[in-house]
Amino acid sequence: MPELRQNIITRDWVIIAKERAQRPEDFVREKKRVAPTPNYDAGCPFCPGNEHLTIKELYRLTDHTGWKTRVVLNKFPALSLEGDRVRRIDGIHRSMTGVGSHEVIIENPRHDLSPALYTHQEMSDVIDTYRRRYADLRKDRRIEAVIIFKNHGPDAGTSLLHPHSQVAAMPIVPTQIRSRIEEGIRHFDEMGECVYCRTLRQELRDRQRIVFETEHFVAFVPYAALSPFHLWIYPRRHSSSFDDIYDSEIDDLAENMTTVFAKLYHGLNNPDYNYSIRSIPAHDGSREYFHWYVAIIPRITKAAGFEIGSGMYINQTVPEESAAYLRKVEIPPVTR
Ligand SMILES: [Zn+2]
Ligand SMILES: [Zn+2]
Repeated sequence: MPELRQNIITRDWVIIAKERAQRPEDFVREKKRVAPTPNYDAGCPFCPGNEHLTIKELYRLTDHTGWKTRVVLNKFPALSLEGDRVRRIDGIHRSMTGVGSHEVIIENPRHDLSPALYTHQEMSDVIDTYRRRYADLRKDRRIEAVIIFKNHGPDAGTSLLHPHSQVAAMPIVPTQIRSRIEEGIRHFDEMGECVYCRTLRQELRDRQRIVFETEHFVAFVPYAALSPFHLWIYPRRHSSSFDDIYDSEIDDLAENMTTVFAKLYHGLNNPDYNYSIRSIPAHDGSREYFHWYVAIIPRITKAAGFEIGSGMYINQTVPEESAAYLRKVEIPPVTR
């Protein structure tokens, strides 16, 4: 019989299609013979030497060889840094000025890399850049939420090859964050503990869904994973805001993330994916009821009418089997 599972963090329900579940191997992307991506593209706005093709630079991390990461304003921003946050109410209609920031983080000078192929140091540089932008943007009184995310591959929403992520700083708290906060408060009121710490404790006890552990972070497939190979990376230390991360934890998270991405890359043949850092709203500071984390969603299956009609999901894999499959993926030495 199929099984319904509930994510206690979001209260989302998912149908785990156990009987017609596919084996993890069924999701390995077909290998196509394609020309290798060059490590430099003269026409790419993010490649070194083409810095003039990007609009305003907000930050760059450098060493003696040149820049390692750069942060620039998005050429087609969804939000604008100029102006005041003004709320308008007209009868039943509510609107607000689109103040905020929409930035692109160029993760590496190399055109052909992706997180699966980064060294730990390169991933550390990316996470350190995220932290700086996050900490800077949340100081702005007009900003309520800072979302850091990456789209990898066309099915995840990008056609630009050069490795990059985005930051969106917004004048409101999106409903998705608000509902997680409300559920976190509800659990804290009832049980006197953080629902995320509780989840991590149970996952570490069950061990069936753990994919990879480092000193400070644990990567696992959620019990009620909404889609195949959906992953969460939780800090072991309770902390509600991403920018509270210590330097030593950044290096450790880099090791955890590059390993998880390498497992997806080698185990499923470089699937498209999105990831996002989920953190507390900008001015909420340190709270006992919320716990920041990284969510990774491989874009292997497509949401369709059932998902749109119900707000529920059907997962065609069994989370325990996906986790076991990823645990076993060996990572060959990287040649680049
Ligand atoms: Zn490039
Ligand atoms: Zn916690």
